Amino acid sequence: MANAQVQRMSQLMAKTLRDDPADAEVLSHKLLVRAGYVRRTAAGIWSWLPLGKRVLANVERIVREEMDAIGAQEVLLPALLPREPYDATGRWDEYGQELFRLKDRKGGDYLLGPTHEEIFTLLVKDQCTSYKDLPVILYQIQHKYRDEARPRAGILRGREFLMKDSYSFDLEDDGLARSYALHREAYQKIFARLGLDYRICAATAGAMGGSKSEEFLAPAEAGEDTFADCPNCDFAANTEAITYALNPVDASAVPAAEDIPTPDTPTIETLAASLGVPASATLKNLLVKVDGEIVAVGVPGDREVDLDKVEAHFAPATVEMVTEADFAARPDLVRGYVGPQGLAKVKYIADPRIAPGTAWITGANKQDTHAKNVVAGRDFEVDEYVDVVVVQEGDPCPKCGTGLKLDRAIEIGHIFQLGRKYADALKLDVLGQNGKPVRVTMGSYGVGVSRAVAALAEQTADDKGLCWPAEVAPADVHVVAAGKAVQTELALDVSDKLAAAGVRVLVDDRPGVSPGVKFTDAELIGVPWILVAGRRAAEGVVELKNRRTGAREELPVAEALSRLT
Ligand code: ATP
Ligand code: MG
Ligand code: MG
Ligand code: MG
Repeated sequence: MANAQVQRMSQLMAKTLRDDPADAEVLSHKLLVRAGYVRRTAAGIWSWLPLGKRVLANVERIVREEMDAIGAQEVLLPALLPREPYDATGRWDEYGQELFRLKDRKGGDYLLGPTHEEIFTLLVKDQCTSYKDLPVILYQIQHKYRDEARPRAGILRGREFLMKDSYSFDLEDDGLARSYALHREAYQKIFARLGLDYRICAATAGAMGGSKSEEFLAPAEAGEDTFADCPNCDFAANTEAITYALNPVDASAVPAAEDIPTPDTPTIETLAASLGVPASATLKNLLVKVDGEIVAVGVPGDREVDLDKVEAHFAPATVEMVTEADFAARPDLVRGYVGPQGLAKVKYIADPRIAPGTAWITGANKQDTHAKNVVAGRDFEVDEYVDVVVVQEGDPCPKCGTGLKLDRAIEIGHIFQLGRKYADALKLDVLGQNGKPVRVTMGSYGVGVSRAVAALAEQTADDKGLCWPAEVAPADVHVVAAGKAVQTELALDVSDKLAAAGVRVLVDDRPGVSPGVKFTDAELIGVPWILVAGRRAAEGVVELKNRRTGAREELPVAEALSRLT
């Protein structure tokens, strides 16, 4: 085995902190900063220090290996992108305020890529001309940019973050299904190797027809997604999809647009115009009350809404932030489906409990954005009719009837069958076997690489600190030299021997740091094994401690070495 490196903490460019950073709300944020893995550069923008970079690189390596294993080819496309392809698909506008737009010195419009469907489509259009060139799967591991409204959860929700994004190109629907299945399996392997606990959740239900999409959700308190989990069978779905599963669509029950009287309260269109957002972006994160009656509502999502502007528009309305309690108090504030990733059009939802004329819509790239008194077909394009129910804890599982649990989770991956939406917009054809052009069908697939680091920290940390699974840990063994010369000598000697056997070592050789602080730091940093050259160093006896279980044992050096190599 190749020599591994010994990283000396006396030379490591990272300081551990005793206190949580003041702005940290979630565990991973606190611990990754305190243990010296990352530093905040600006809101939602992070620098990775040596230990953090190692963990990130390990996640990248695992992702790369599993993508390569399904025959995907790695490329690297720019993050700085021209506007035109995003105009062609409508996303320059549809992405709303989450898109970082910028100008060059000549006044040309550019964006920082939030996801790359357009650019990959054009690359394949340029490179692939014949059916013989397909199928192809391309991927990259690259920074993505999204101007998230509330980048408050540390690495979990960055405005710059690392994503593995891949795109499949096939001639036929069954080819797309195959590419999708390959990704699904690769993702299962990736997340298992990372040591993440996760569920695969239907992100849209069959009733939506056409395109299929699933999310990989890692259960965690800090998560911003809610999913329904069956304790009895394998059913799991995000709350958007479960809505369909519990209440199938009956389009005939939906009133026609012309049967809905024109309301005199503001429409989504006028409101959106006053806010300077496209109508399909609708409202988020606000509750608008006129004379105590709610006229519009949204729940935490991606777009910032200027409450002052909304309030001015609705005057004399009062505008408030929505809380979970608002929803609990108003079960008629229905939750509905919206397609993923900004691809969806605004949906019209007709709830039998809501009288005609009080139509509800939901839009943008998340569930749960609603406004009252808008007319389908007039205020927005109608592309789907759905019934809705509010999913609640204990509702029967659509598969087996057992009471569902509702849990919080972190979205770590997302796979989609896109179909021909992008190929249509950008005219991606190849010559088919019969010499006629064939429109290509696509899939797109994302893993939050940097988010996975934080998700792992969330799931594996304990009250002492981080606690990494072996494959992603920044080292295999954390050797602690208790302080005396003989202890340091032994610690460095053991470290060299471990490294020679291919074991990655972090050795705490910091002079003048008390053994107590070193032990606390070792727990905080979270390397799977802690080897202490302490009390019995002169006899050649060390202590070996399992970071996760806390089990410790005194062993002669030779035995410790043979355990670890
Ligand atoms: P979210 O619902 O958390 O906003 P998303 O659905 O917008 O995520 P996708 O467009 O599906 O994200 O992107 C693919 C993956 O990229 C996500 O599954 C997630 O793991 C990761 N990701 C998305 N946004 C961020 C972010 N702001 N910071 C870190 N990772 C992110
Ligand atoms: Mg998002
Ligand atoms: Mg999402
Ligand atoms: Mg997603």
